[in-house]
Amino acid sequence: MHSVIETPSHIGFQFSDEQVAVAHLVREFAKHEIAPHVARWDKEHIFPRELYGKLADAGILGMTIPEEHGGGGSDTVTYALVVEELAKADAGTATTFSVHAMVAAAINAMGTPEQRRRYLPKLASGEMLAAFALTEPESGSDAASLRTHAERNGDGYVISGRKQWCTNAGYSGVVMVMARTGGHGANGISSFLVENGVPGLVVERVTEKMGIHSSNTVDLAFDNVAVPADALLGVEGRGFRQALQTLNAGRIGIAAQACGILAACLHESIAFARERHTFGKPIGAYQGISFKIARMQVDLDAARLLMYRAAWLKDQGRDFAVAASEAKLFASEAARRQSAEAVQIHGGYGYTTEFPVERYYRDAKITEIYEGTSEIHQIIVARSLLGKLD
Ligand SMILES: Cc1cc2nc3c(=O)[nH]c(=O)nc-3n(C[C@H](O)[C@H](O)[C@H](O)COP(=O)(O)OP(=O)(O)OC[C@H]3O[C@@H](n4cnc5c(N)ncnc54)[C@H](O)[C@@H]3O)c2cc1C
Repeated sequence: MHSVIETPSHIGFQFSDEQVAVAHLVREFAKHEIAPHVARWDKEHIFPRELYGKLADAGILGMTIPEEHGGGGSDTVTYALVVEELAKADAGTATTFSVHAMVAAAINAMGTPEQRRRYLPKLASGEMLAAFALTEPESGSDAASLRTHAERNGDGYVISGRKQWCTNAGYSGVVMVMARTGGHGANGISSFLVENGVPGLVVERVTEKMGIHSSNTVDLAFDNVAVPADALLGVEGRGFRQALQTLNAGRIGIAAQACGILAACLHESIAFARERHTFGKPIGAYQGISFKIARMQVDLDAARLLMYRAAWLKDQGRDFAVAASEAKLFASEAARRQSAEAVQIHGGYGYTTEFPVERYYRDAKITEIYEGTSEIHQIIVARSLLGKLD
């Protein structure tokens, strides 16, 4: 019998010794630094800023940042293992980490040598967290219709507009912001690296959420924010493609987060099904319960295989975008479905805060929404098969 909370080596995916060691390191870290606090963070909506210094000290926060910039230089499969392990303990922490790592990867891939030198060591050490600001009040899935604009002004740009639901942005040091520098549509958008604290950039509102309470989600107002020309990421007009490229990789992280939630659901459900007795037997002895657990296991294995395939394709330098969409679509829907089953297996206890499954149920839902909704991922997969017919 394998433990679902261990590294999923049984799924048939070949992890290296180093990857297994990293997963073990993160699991041990989470056991001591996250698990004892997560119920309080959730109940009191606490963003544990100090945790990210500890994650950095343990070498986890900057794991995917190149070694020359103070990170661990790990690959995408390792990144996915880290997110999954964090999410087993706390999905909110996994959200913070995955967005941070996603933006760090974008700076590394698309930034100038100077931008890499300026930001990556601080992102690895936890001195700065990173945020990603694409969504606006009037544009989410249809991100190419965004309205925030950046006007050329002398040597730099002046950015004005509003961004909505930016993960980490209340505590971040740097925000990757997509703004319009040209005409309508995707080709008129550019990306900028904007440092928190610049005049005119204000956190307008902290969003109250259904779940992932230990993550920070805020609306940002840009009121004539002056940034230098070297805040531009890459070249003008590439911002929408850069955002999609960034999100393609991020989606592997959300799939990994969903896998972590699924693994935690399964772990709790197995323990409860063994211990809870009705009519003189453990409830796990009834097929009505044991079959639910069997299906949970199958969903977890399938979600993991899709997710690690996408991560592996990316590490091989192969096209991984559709694989990432498939993984995110399947894993997030499985996490939502199976977290509901985990509550059901726990009966009335599942609906109380005495057991963590009600938190898993609330946390799982967001994985179907952010970094592309399930509907958008179905469009991506369908288009890869049918082409663009409309
Ligand atoms: C907690 C949280 C954290 C977030 N973090 C970030 C962040 O860090 N950075 C950031 O930029 N954004 C972030 N977001 C925003 C998130 O990515 C968007 O909410 C998401 O992309 C969906 O956009 P929307 O909410 O505007 O929904 P809409 O785009 O308005 O969609 C509404 C509904 O219509 C469906 N729909 C839309 N278009 C189609 C279509 N063509 N065909 C079929 N169905 C369609 C959608 O799937 C959805 O069900 C976050 C959101 C939340 C809630």
